[in-house]
Amino acid sequence: MHADIVVLPGDGIGPEVTAAAVDVLRAVAARHGHAFRFHTHAIGGAAIDATGEPLPAATLEAARRADAILLGAVGGPKWSDPNARVRPEQGLLAIRKALGLYANLRPVKPHPATLGASPVKPHLLQGVDLVVVRELTGGIYFGDKAREADAASDLCRYSVAEVERVVRVAAGLARARRGRLTSVDKANVLETSRLWRDVATRVVRDEFPDVELEHQLVDSMAMHLIARPRAYDVIVTENMFGDILTDEASMLAGSLGLLPSASLGDGKAGLYEPIHGSAPDIAGRGIANPYAAILSAAMLLRHSLGLHAEAQAVEHAVSQALDDGRLTADIATAGKPTVATRAATDAVIDALQLPSQVMELRD
Ligand code: NAD
Repeated sequence: MHADIVVLPGDGIGPEVTAAAVDVLRAVAARHGHAFRFHTHAIGGAAIDATGEPLPAATLEAARRADAILLGAVGGPKWSDPNARVRPEQGLLAIRKALGLYANLRPVKPHPATLGASPVKPHLLQGVDLVVVRELTGGIYFGDKAREADAASDLCRYSVAEVERVVRVAAGLARARRGRLTSVDKANVLETSRLWRDVATRVVRDEFPDVELEHQLVDSMAMHLIARPRAYDVIVTENMFGDILTDEASMLAGSLGLLPSASLGDGKAGLYEPIHGSAPDIAGRGIANPYAAILSAAMLLRHSLGLHAEAQAVEHAVSQALDDGRLTADIATAGKPTVATRAATDAVIDALQLPSQVMELRD
C-alpha cells in the first residue's frame, strides 16, 4: 500500500520520539512491501520560531492531504509566557478542530515488566486491557462562557449528532475487541447526560446489537477504574469526564512514556501522538522513552491505514522489547540497567515479526 504520512515532531523530546516511530514504520514498510512517504512539518514552539504561528498554513494544508498524521509533543519553557499572543498548545487545539477530530482513543494495557511502575497494586493490573474514548470537540469546553463581577458560567451543550458519532466509533471499537461498551455520564443530575444516555442506548440497540452496553455514573466510574480496571473493555464518555478519566487511567500503566493515543474524525486522516508532553527536562539527551510514540504509530497503521496485522506486529515487538528488559530510565525499577532511545527503538525493529509468525505466537 502507498501512504502519505505527515510527521509533526514539535518540541522537546517530540523530534526524538517521532524519529523512533518513523524508523519503526520504515521497517514495517520494508518487511511488508508498503510504500510510506513521510512529510515533516512544523507545529508548536518550533513553528512559532520559524513562522510566528503555532500551526502554519503549510502544516495544516499538508495534514488535510495526508493519509495519517504522527505528532510528537509541543511546548516548553521558551514559549511558556502566559501573556504571549501565541502559544505552542494553540497549534494542537487548532489542528484537532480544523480536521474535525472528535473521538480521542486512549488504550491502556499495562505490560507485566512495568507493573511495578504503577501506584496501583500489581494484582489489580494483571490482564487490564481497556480503551477510553473521549468526545473531544463538544461539551462544556466549547460552550458559551460568561463572566460577571461576582459570578461566571460555562455552558455544556451536546447535540444528538455529536453523541451519535462518538458512540458509533466506540461501539465499532468494542465490536472489534471483546464486545463490551461502558457509557459514562452523570444522568442523575445533568440534562446533557440524560440525552447522552438515550442516544447511546438507541445507537447500540439499533446498530450494534452484538455489543453489550452498560451505563455508569462518572463518580462511581472513577472508583471502579482503580478498584477493578480488568472489568472494562471500551469506555465512552463526554469531553470533560473523559479528560479526567483518561488521566486517571494513565496511572494504571505507570509511565506516560508507554501510552499512545489517536484522535479520529470522519475524514480519513487521524492524528496519532503519545500522551506525554515535550519533557524539556530530558530533551536532547537521547534518553526519552520512544515506546508511546511507537505504539501511536501502531494505532496509525490500524485506524488510518487498515493494516491490522502490521499494527499487531508492532505492538508485539514493543511487548517483546519490554520482555527482554529493554527499559528506558522512566520505566526501569531502581538498580535495573536502562537503555537509551536508540537501543529501545532498535530492539523493537529487531523484534518485528511477519504477520503469520505473530498469529502463530498468539495462538
Ligand atoms: P511531560 O509529559 O512533558 O513530562 C512529565 C514528566 O514525565 C517529566 O519528568 C518527563 O521527563 C517525563 N516524561 C514524559 N515523557 C517521557 C518519555 N517519553 N520518556 C521519558 N520520560 C518522559 O509533562 P510536563 O512536564 O507537564 O510538560 C512539559 C511541556 O510539555 C509543557 O510545555 C507542556 O505544556 C507540554 N505538554 C504537551 C503535551 C502535548 O503536546 N500533547 C502534553 C502534555 C504537556
